[in-house]
Amino acid sequence: MDCSRPGCAGTAIIDRPYAGDHLCTLHFRESIRDRVRRELHHQAPGLRGGLLAVGLSGGKDSAVTLALTHRILGSRRGLRMVAITIDEGISDYRPRTVESARELTRRLGIPHVVRSFSQELGTRTEEAARLLHEGAPCSWCGVWRRRLLNQAARELGAVRLAMGFNLDDLAQTVLMNLVRGEPHRLVQMAPHARRQPALVPRIAPLASIPEREVYLYARLEGIPFDHAQCPFAPHGGRNLFRDVLWQLEEKIPGSRHALLKTREKLLPLLLAGEPFEGPGTCPHCGEPSSGSTCRSCAYLEALQGARENGFIVPSGSGDR
Ligand code: SF4
Ligand SMILES: [Zn+2]
Ligand SMILES: [Zn+2]
Repeated sequence: MDCSRPGCAGTAIIDRPYAGDHLCTLHFRESIRDRVRRELHHQAPGLRGGLLAVGLSGGKDSAVTLALTHRILGSRRGLRMVAITIDEGISDYRPRTVESARELTRRLGIPHVVRSFSQELGTRTEEAARLLHEGAPCSWCGVWRRRLLNQAARELGAVRLAMGFNLDDLAQTVLMNLVRGEPHRLVQMAPHARRQPALVPRIAPLASIPEREVYLYARLEGIPFDHAQCPFAPHGGRNLFRDVLWQLEEKIPGSRHALLKTREKLLPLLLAGEPFEGPGTCPHCGEPSSGSTCRSCAYLEALQGARENGFIVPSGSGDR
């Protein structure tokens, strides 16, 4: 099949039903860069200088985010970049991805900061998975990771924190929040539409790029990333939404983009209404919080309680 771009005789390497075309290698790579460039201008129009932090897990999404933001913005005078990796403490998974993250930052010449749950919070996801019975490990692990990423970005003086969320991730989040009847969370998710105290605004440069295109781009460009999957991922709450969205996209191409557009259209209404949750900070850790104690501290308290009560799940059943 030939590339859809006028005048191009190249062989198509990917079809994009949502766009009604298929692209050759050259035009596929170009289109990815153009879309990321547009997202950066749209989400961070005033980004002329200062420090841009990028959350770098070492997987394909964050690796492409770092490589592309560096390519597009790296030569901008006055703008500096730093990559931040959070080590949650998951053997056979995180050490490999941290190594990939190191390799990429070395290659790009970008400073790399690594913070760990064990140093910052005194625990590891593996320990919490054995002791805590409150939901799947992703519940507290995700909350703690967001806290450490934000803390590190704020302490480093970052003006924005770029995350590797792709189109699939964001469409899943929109769908999840709508299905759960929590529209106010559409305001809280990245890319952030308003500033909140103590929160470094997050942007998502890959917001319009489907996951499989991120993967293909990383492979074509030779961007180092690790394929490892977290052993706890199959228990995450968003897997159902991922499956539903795949089916939707197959039957109705463009569903994912439509979900993100729905969020954009709802945002002004949500922002104009009464604030669902007042801005504030947690009295214990100083992180953004709507209540007195943030979720991160609440999970840490629950963990401490479980430790003191000696409540341990029998060996083997903690490997969820
Ligand atoms: S998949 Fe869940 S448990 Fe694993 S690193 Fe991500 S949030 Fe943590
Ligand atoms: Zn072409
Ligand atoms: Zn707190």
